[in-house]
Amino acid sequence: MEEAIVLYPSPPIGHLISMVELGKLLLTQKPSLSIHILITSVPYDSGSTAPYIANVAATIPSIKFHHLPTVTLPSTKTTHHEELTFEVLRLSNPHVREELLSISKNYTIHGLVVDAFCCAALSVAKELNIPGYHFSSSGAGVLALFLYFPTIHNTTTKSLKDLKSLLHIPGVPPIPSSDMPIPVLDRDDKSYENFLDSSRSFPESAGIVVNTFASLEARAVKALSEGLCVPNNRTPPIYCIGPLIATAGPKDDAGTRNGTTLECLTWLDSQPVGSVVFLCFGSLGLFSKEQLREIAFGLERSGHRFLWVVRNPPSDKKSVALSARPNIDLDSLLPEGFLDRTKERGLVLKSWAPQVAVLNHPSVGGFVSHCGWNSVLEAVCAGVPLVAWPLYAEQRLNRIFLVEEMKLALPMNESDNGFVSSAEVEERVLGLMESEEGKLIRERAIAMKIAAQAALNEGGSSRVAVSQLVESYKEITTTPSHAR
Ligand code: UDP
Repeated sequence: MEEAIVLYPSPPIGHLISMVELGKLLLTQKPSLSIHILITSVPYDSGSTAPYIANVAATIPSIKFHHLPTVTLPSTKTTHHEELTFEVLRLSNPHVREELLSISKNYTIHGLVVDAFCCAALSVAKELNIPGYHFSSSGAGVLALFLYFPTIHNTTTKSLKDLKSLLHIPGVPPIPSSDMPIPVLDRDDKSYENFLDSSRSFPESAGIVVNTFASLEARAVKALSEGLCVPNNRTPPIYCIGPLIATAGPKDDAGTRNGTTLECLTWLDSQPVGSVVFLCFGSLGLFSKEQLREIAFGLERSGHRFLWVVRNPPSDKKSVALSARPNIDLDSLLPEGFLDRTKERGLVLKSWAPQVAVLNHPSVGGFVSHCGWNSVLEAVCAGVPLVAWPLYAEQRLNRIFLVEEMKLALPMNESDNGFVSSAEVEERVLGLMESEEGKLIRERAIAMKIAAQAALNEGGSSRVAVSQLVESYKEITTTPSHAR
């Protein structure tokens, strides 16, 4: 029987992309494998995945997609996207079971690899005697923190939002409790429970695959591999196999969304080397109209060239696109005359940019990012320094790691209500592009790009970890009960 690995990403496109890249990586290590990816859908805009999936399915026959039936959400009225995601994925378990059984008619399944939101499916894997692996689509620092989260939970009865202290977690700098991911700030929040359950499931897995590389997060990787983050040294094997980034895909999506792909790359062709600041905030990031105007003023006053992806503001003051509103009217969103005054040195894109291509364009010299982990790795692989402006999920942690540990970014500092002034935008753009500090960060970014390549090359740390991962499939898999 043919051998298969089943990958189960949560719906946002960033998670899907890194799982697809994981599938491709496993195929380079073992071309005879068959990779099966389970796809679920959620009741919010998680980035259009259909063109991307079609493209991968058409170009890599060994990767097969299985669309699970849409589940009906019962009573939940939450608009919290993390809670919705957990709920949808939990309800999808019977479909996961059916799909695994169906795949196992033709393949021996060596592993089910889930991301943090899909951990409920590990119980299905256990029932079917399929080894369950976690895939941490964020970095080693965030993984250290999630593995340590149950310990934090046991040492206080307060919500993290009320703790007002520094958390000391092995392998990472001290973390202000308020910088923990928003869904775990409130102990009474359903998401807190969801993430706690997810964290508790990590040590139970057959292994944890992490999208990072050893020299990017040396201290966190060391703490993880020494088992310091889980009591009684119950850390399963850790495989740091990154950086996994999309080499192509979303840009095809961009072409169909707004037809600006070519326009923006052609525009970049006409700009001087290293001169353009790119501003882009992931698949879900949104700003209020006031914040968009403040960014515009800051960019204008900085005098720098820029390429800026702008979306419509949210209807409910959130910084996450639960329902992205199309038909962007830039003239009414941005300050009067802004587009005209900056047309010689700036380009505003509606909704989406071909980010990987943009970051790798020689004209791009800096990246103002929401610090989603894929965006971080894409910047690292392109050797582009960042300004870290976190918006949601674990991004505030990534800002700390980027600024304090990796030294690849300047922080964007917001006021207590989360607002960033035009003066701050201006100062940070100038700091990144012109200051001595910016120069050091740039040099470090270039060095880290070389280190990333080295990790992936023959004999590099990530290459070794992938072969160990594939070896582990052989060791763990006995005769799965589903195949009997
Ligand atoms: N992306 C893109 N164009 C955009 C916005 C996002 O190509 O305008 C891609 C980006 O390159 C990355 C992914 O979408 O691969 C976003 O993932 P990330 O982890 O950075 O953030 P998330 O969207 O999950 O918050």
